[in-house]
Amino acid sequence: MILVTGGAGFIGGHLAEQFVRDGHDVVVLDDLDPYYDVDIKRRNIECAREAAHGGSGSYELVEGDVRDADLVADLVDEAAYVYHQAAQAGVRTSVENPRRVDDINVEGTLNVLDAARASPVERIVFASSSSVYGKPRDLPYDEDHPTTPISPYGVSKLAAENYVRVYGDLYDLSTVALRYFTVYGPRMRPNMAISNFVSRCANGEPPVVYGDGSQTRDFTYIDDVVRANAKLLDTDAADGEVLNIGSTDTVSIATLAEVIRDEIAPDLSIEHGERQAGDAEHTHADVTKAGDVLGYEPTEDIRSGVRQFIAWYRANREWYEPLVRSS
Ligand code: NAD
Repeated sequence: MILVTGGAGFIGGHLAEQFVRDGHDVVVLDDLDPYYDVDIKRRNIECAREAAHGGSGSYELVEGDVRDADLVADLVDEAAYVYHQAAQAGVRTSVENPRRVDDINVEGTLNVLDAARASPVERIVFASSSSVYGKPRDLPYDEDHPTTPISPYGVSKLAAENYVRVYGDLYDLSTVALRYFTVYGPRMRPNMAISNFVSRCANGEPPVVYGDGSQTRDFTYIDDVVRANAKLLDTDAADGEVLNIGSTDTVSIATLAEVIRDEIAPDLSIEHGERQAGDAEHTHADVTKAGDVLGYEPTEDIRSGVRQFIAWYRANREWYEPLVRSS
């Protein structure tokens, strides 16, 4: 069985769906946290359940909290692989409520790791983040770049990632940490720049860029993230490692707004709002190591990925758009 914590969320939902489609038995642990609209999580659950119909894979949702050590221990005990995605995501939330983020992201990870010590689990894959790097010294950066996070969220991800590494060493567990770089695609969290820009343009409203828009991001398409994770079912080559999972195709937020505007409503202007605290200035992944170890190769650049997202958005506008508007 594959346990996906946070499997009702954006990335975990896609992982669960793909694993079920590939014929695996999947158990999702998720507390359906209302940090963003739970309707999206219900869709994620539905998609994975549908994937189980007619195939050889199975899907089970356990509604529960990763901070519940006994529950986590019971589930990890049954698992061959654990994909630990459950977290309080989002830099801004962490600036407002750092202790809650620490509680879920660090304590929750320790629960998974402690449970793994006492179980025959084959591998634990941890969802880390480019936020661990903070202010980059040079671009692009590889995994040896210093880690000096600039938000409580980044601190929590780095602490959890270090626990994952240390537990791997001390207790002979197979662990891998994947540092994701801003992931986007169908059913993405509604409170992110791409979903927001698309929604505003689709409604004839100018996209609003926070700050001057010179911040750059390495946006990674969800399918590439799923592929990297799926590889870890078949190889121990990455055990004990930390890997950047990015697209390497960076774009400034101002250019992103223009790309989306040009695709949907070329006559719109671009507006600017106040810069948000805790946001990194630039992210740009060097993915050489993931390429060497996993054969990882990002397939989507920002223009092709955004086009796919806009096509999905149009097809799902009726239910998804109100959730973006209210986020
Ligand atoms: P998400 O918020 O969509 O998914 C996280 C899931 O965890 C949610 O379904 C939520 O209900 C669940 N969860 C939260 N607290 C929980 C708790 N206490 N117990 C059980 N479940 C809980 O976020 P996502 O974008 O899918 O991110 C998945 C993982 O990837 C997270 O660990 C996040 O930190 C990491 N990550 C995401 C990105 C990105 O760009 N999306 C980038 C870097 C790292």
